[in-house]
Amino acid sequence: MGSITLRNVSKVFGEAKVIPSIDLDINDGEFVVFVGPSGCGKSTLLRLIAGLEDVSGGDIIIDGQNATDAAPAKRGLAMVFQSYALYPHMSVRSNIAFPLKMAGIDKAEIDRKVADAARVLNLTDYLERKPRQLSGGQRQRVAIGRAIVRQPSAFLFDEPLSNLDAALRVNMRLEISELHQQLKTTMIYVTHDQVEAMTMADKIVVLNRGNIEQVGSPLDLYRKPANLFVAGFIGSPR
Ligand code: ADP
Ligand code: MG
Repeated sequence: MGSITLRNVSKVFGEAKVIPSIDLDINDGEFVVFVGPSGCGKSTLLRLIAGLEDVSGGDIIIDGQNATDAAPAKRGLAMVFQSYALYPHMSVRSNIAFPLKMAGIDKAEIDRKVADAARVLNLTDYLERKPRQLSGGQRQRVAIGRAIVRQPSAFLFDEPLSNLDAALRVNMRLEISELHQQLKTTMIYVTHDQVEAMTMADKIVVLNRGNIEQVGSPLDLYRKPANLFVAGFIGSPR
């Protein structure tokens, strides 16, 4: 569980061909980073995979099933939004439990899943607090917790750390990498930050104007950048 294939995926907004055509294979358990300059189509691509936008053409295959027309909730994926997407009036417990409540799961099972997620994320002592009583990093962990309880086949992150300060960003980067090692679930992580891409990814997808410039491991990209754009963006010596 957790393989995602894009075949000839395109997206047009009005006159603008934001994604001309993308082919990409993401393997089960991979940590894949989409990196590229602002406006290159990273968020759009992630939203197409999540089903939050409809494709203009092509197919999205998730775990061997054609999911191109599937509703977001049917895709088995969890999008992790920035920490400010928490419900401010709800406790940490209620925030994490929210998707399970919506799905009609019984209380005992909800309590168990919330406790498990809280343990993984070191939030056990904070479950009765409100988001405003937490640090930025703790809030981000609550946002991740809300995704974990759904046991998705892949996590989708869109610049989750961009509103945290530099020191905290480094910490959270390590925590998300550790989480990936623990859960071994596919993660797609969008960032415009080359350092995040190079340190977190199994596989980096370099995007430029809606096209893939190169796909490879951090070492591949560093040693053998496909072109000057990749070399310049990754900061390799070519
Ligand atoms: P990134 O996340 O890499 O910064 P986006 O995917 O947000 O880039 O945007 C890619 C391009 O698509 C940008 O030019 C943006 O203005 C355009 N775009 C994104 N969403 C919409 C939309 N809903 N309507 C029209 N244009 C959009
Ligand atoms: Mg974006």
